[in-house]
Amino acid sequence: MRDIFARYNYHEIRTPIFEDTALFSRSVGEETDIVSKEMFTWEDKARAQSEKAQSLTLRPENTAGVVRAYIEHRLGDKGTLQKLYYIGPQFRRERPQKGRYRQFYQIGAEIIGPPSAGSESPARDAEVLEMLATILDEVGLRDWNLQLNSVGCAEDRARYNQALREALQPVVHQMCADCQRRAETNPLRVLDCKHPEDQPIIEKLPKIGEYLDEPCRQHFAEVRAMLDAVGVPYSINERMVRGLDYYTRTTFEFTHGGLGAQSAVLGGGRYDGLSESLDGPKAPGIGFAIGEDRLILALQSQGEQPATKIQAFVAPLGAGMNQHALKLARELRRAGIDSDLGDENFRLKKSFELAEKAGAQFIVIVGENEVAADQFAVKNLATGEQVTVARADLSAYLRK
Ligand code: AMP
Repeated sequence: MRDIFARYNYHEIRTPIFEDTALFSRSVGEETDIVSKEMFTWEDKARAQSEKAQSLTLRPENTAGVVRAYIEHRLGDKGTLQKLYYIGPQFRRERPQKGRYRQFYQIGAEIIGPPSAGSESPARDAEVLEMLATILDEVGLRDWNLQLNSVGCAEDRARYNQALREALQPVVHQMCADCQRRAETNPLRVLDCKHPEDQPIIEKLPKIGEYLDEPCRQHFAEVRAMLDAVGVPYSINERMVRGLDYYTRTTFEFTHGGLGAQSAVLGGGRYDGLSESLDGPKAPGIGFAIGEDRLILALQSQGEQPATKIQAFVAPLGAGMNQHALKLARELRRAGIDSDLGDENFRLKKSFELAEKAGAQFIVIVGENEVAADQFAVKNLATGEQVTVARADLSAYLRK
């Protein structure tokens, strides 16, 4: 992931594991599942009598923290796009199940900056989506689906919310308590409802696509045209509004069939008003978060094994050989050969077993004769071929 981010000119940002509670309620939204039910929040003791106790929250997601840092450290003053990635734990009090944990890991990135740097352009959306397709292809995930939608701008959503409120009015009394409340406070969030009994009602509600204004339609059309031009396949899913309030315009999820009920490997979207809503400068942006745990589950569902192979297993043989083996392993490792090291107390059979378990390509035997001659027995564990190689040639031989 780090290699790919570097290839696309992203740099790492590390934000704190916990932040002021208000940061999340203001950005993610009071009526979202995340803020209303899932945050781990506590009162931090005041240090002095003059201070107020502060409400802190384990971060449930990382975009809010990145935008907070962007504002606080005036990253926009540079006048260029900030392309920032993060890898780290996030926390939500969800019902644990396969692919859904209370501490989980996200690999995410944001492109954010002043409009003059091109942060609003549909080219950013297309660039982000193209990178995600490349990431999933390069880690070897097959048969992913990109689901794409546009949730429009704040004005579109206000009109859509009004339409939802009207459509819900005659039916909402048949729905769950959450929906009844949200129909009043934030009707868009009714679409997040998971209650099976409510789904037939939700199916019949108006769709956001009908409420986009001309600039938002145009923006979305350009994103799609660029994806078509580079050959990234997608399908439009007008139901997908994503469970966070800060999204505007493009929203997306990549899903994978091997994941069962929790099928989203990653999600993201554009958040053009977020910085201003946190009292920052105008700083449109777009980002995503890959669920690292789910990505691994999806790869495992394809029979993929984590790559744990090493090139060499250095096996000291007999008393006094540990130091010689350590010296040889040091030389190999410094030459960039991935190596592991046994112990002089292990019998040769055990060293071979350990080398096999470590997935080593070669075992290098370090015994008294080898040390005296300054050349080592090297066995290719796949072919069984064994040769003797001089110390000076060893790293080149193993690399070849
Ligand atoms: P979100 O921040 O809700 O848009 O989530 C982005 C991605 O993070 C999802 O597509 C999942 O892959 C992953 N994710 C979200 N919540 C969890 C969780 N509780 N456990 C594991 N992965 C999660």
